[in-house]
This record gives sequence, C-alpha cells and structure tokens, in this order.
Amino acid sequence: MPVAIEFNSVSKHFGEVKALNSVSFTVQEGEFFSMLGPSGSGKTTSLRLMAGFEQPSSGRLTLMGFEAAGTPPYARDVNTVFQDYALFPHMNVLDNVAYGLMVRKMPKPERYALAHAALAMVALPDHGARTPAQLSGGQRQRVALARALVNRPRILLLDEPLGALDMKLREQMQVELKVLHRKLGITFVYVTHDQNEALSMSDRVAVFNRGQIEQIATPRELYRRPRTRFVADFVGSSNVVAADLARRITGHSQCFSVRQENIALAPAGGAAAPGRVQVEGEVLAIQFLGATQRIEVQVGSQIMTALQQDVAAAGDQATHTAPGQQVALHWAAHDMVMLDA
Ligand code: ATP
Repeated sequence: MPVAIEFNSVSKHFGEVKALNSVSFTVQEGEFFSMLGPSGSGKTTSLRLMAGFEQPSSGRLTLMGFEAAGTPPYARDVNTVFQDYALFPHMNVLDNVAYGLMVRKMPKPERYALAHAALAMVALPDHGARTPAQLSGGQRQRVALARALVNRPRILLLDEPLGALDMKLREQMQVELKVLHRKLGITFVYVTHDQNEALSMSDRVAVFNRGQIEQIATPRELYRRPRTRFVADFVGSSNVVAADLARRITGHSQCFSVRQENIALAPAGGAAAPGRVQVEGEVLAIQFLGATQRIEVQVGSQIMTALQQDVAAAGDQATHTAPGQQVALHWAAHDMVMLDA
C-alpha cells in the first residue's frame, strides 16, 4: 500500500521542552491511524507538523511521497478538524462550509454545489441556512467535518474531534466517522487520549509517551500483546506484575501483564492445573457490575484484579467470595505477556 505520511527521526523542541523526540513511523494511504497517549505526550504536535502549523526542529516529514518542508498549510493535501469546531458564528452553515473555497476565489455556484455535497456526506443536507448557534453539539461537529471535507483532501487530520460531546453522542459519532472513512477511502489521522475510542475505530494505533512512540499496532495486538509496561497500563485493563512479585510467580524478575478477564479464582491451598500459573492472596474488595464482577486481591505488595465475565456461570466460588478470604488466582501461562521496562 502506498505511504501517505512518513516521519523520519522527527524531533520538535519548544525551548527546553522536547515535545517530540526522534519519532519515526509511516501511515498507509486509506488507513484509519490513531495517535493515543496522555496529555502532553506529543500527539497534537505530531498532527500540527503534518498540517504544516509547525516545522520540525530536525528530521524529515513526507506527505503523499513529497517532502513537506517549505509547503505551507493551505498547499498541503490535508485538512484538520479541531475539537472546538472553530465555526464562524455569524455565517450560516453553508457559508461556513464553503468558506475555504471562497478564499480560493471559486465562483459561487461551484462552491455552493461542493458545500451542499459535503453537507450531504455528513448527513446534514437540510441545515445549510441555519447558524451554528441553531445546531446541537454533534451537528456542529459534523459541519466542521464537512468544512474539512469540502476541499477533498487526501488526508484528514482530526484532533480530539469528539472531545466536547457527551458519551452517547460521542459513541454515535464514532460509528458515523467510521462509516465516513470507509465511504471516502481517504487517510484519517485521529488524535485521542481515550483508549476505547482508539481501539474501536482504528486500523492501527500509535501509543505516545513523553514525546516518543511506545508501540504501533492494530487494536487487537495492542490489547493482547502490549510491548511495554506503559502500554499495558494505558490500554485496556491489565495487571502489570512488577519484578518482585514476578520473581515469586515465574522464578525470574521480568515484569509481565495479565488481563483482568483472564484471571480465574479458586479456593486457596490447591495446586495449579497443568499449563496454568497460580498465586494466592487476600480478597480486598468485590465490585458487582451487573454482568461482570471485579475482585481485588492483595498479592504480596501488589493488588491484582480479576474480572469475572459471567457471574452466574462462575458458580459458587464467585458468589461466595468475600473480603478477607484467602483465594488462589490462576491464569493460563500463555495469557502472560512479558514486558520491556
Ligand atoms: P493533549 O492531549 O493535552 O493535547 P498532546 O499529547 O497533544 O497533549 P502536545 O500538545 O503535543 O501533547 O504537547 C507536547 C509537549 O509540548 C507538552 O509538554 C506541551 O506543553 C509542549 N508544547 C506544545 N506546544 C507548545 C508551544 N507552542 N510552546 C511550548 N510548548 C509547547
């Protein structure tokens, strides 16, 4: 597949702050690529470099096969959608969407035709005459999307576009964005600090930490095979077992992670079944969550968490477990993922 974006040892410093530190990765054409990480990890800086709002301190950045350096934002084949929509409040929706085309001096009939088409793409065909104030948050975000799409960019950059929406609308827009991505077939680069959003929407996810990328993988790989402690902690709900406890359990001190839902409970005092790893501890708390139940167990100096998927099917051991009790936690040896530091 052709490469849409390539970062080659790209660094970006703001004075003393190393926002990005020699980052290299590629985004394939047509891919839904997410940049996930905590606040300040360098996601937005990466996006702004792609858009041309910032220039790298060092390294090379190419877009659609061309060196990006020296190409101003408006001449790049990219458009950006921001969290705060950045719509003009005094203009109606149609003029907001057509604005970029007007600046490029496209004649009125043509630019309105394209703006109508863009509004239809985001399922707002009849809202052109309203002002942004007469729209809901979700509709405003769709207008912002239409405004970015009206230029028919090859790459769409989205910076936490759903951050201002409530949970329900957010989930609905996630589905709509996925559908739009499939329909348009262009490259989407999506910035988020929400791991569920990144996992549910993306073809691949880059996990950022302190200006570097810890891992780039498909959502499944990232969830099942986190490479580092940071990724295991940040993505999904894992137990990260530190060196001391790891030594007690496996005989060597390499940290490992094991997913909460892969841990089962048994009465204390029994031996581990073949192919399973076992450790004992004291139940600290039980959280009933409806279909699932979360059990926290003090194991040595660490707290491990088991998530029981089907409380009814888990039987007596699940329902009779109580705080203060000694229990055995066990999991399949192949569910342990060894981690780099
Ligand atoms: P968030 O999720 O909070 O937006 P982020 O991962 O997108 O975080 P960036 O915005 O890329 O993080 O910021 C990375 C680092 O660079 C931060 O420490 C930030 O304070 C710093 N930084 C970003 N832009 C500038 C700037 N214009 N001047 C100085 N420092 C900056």
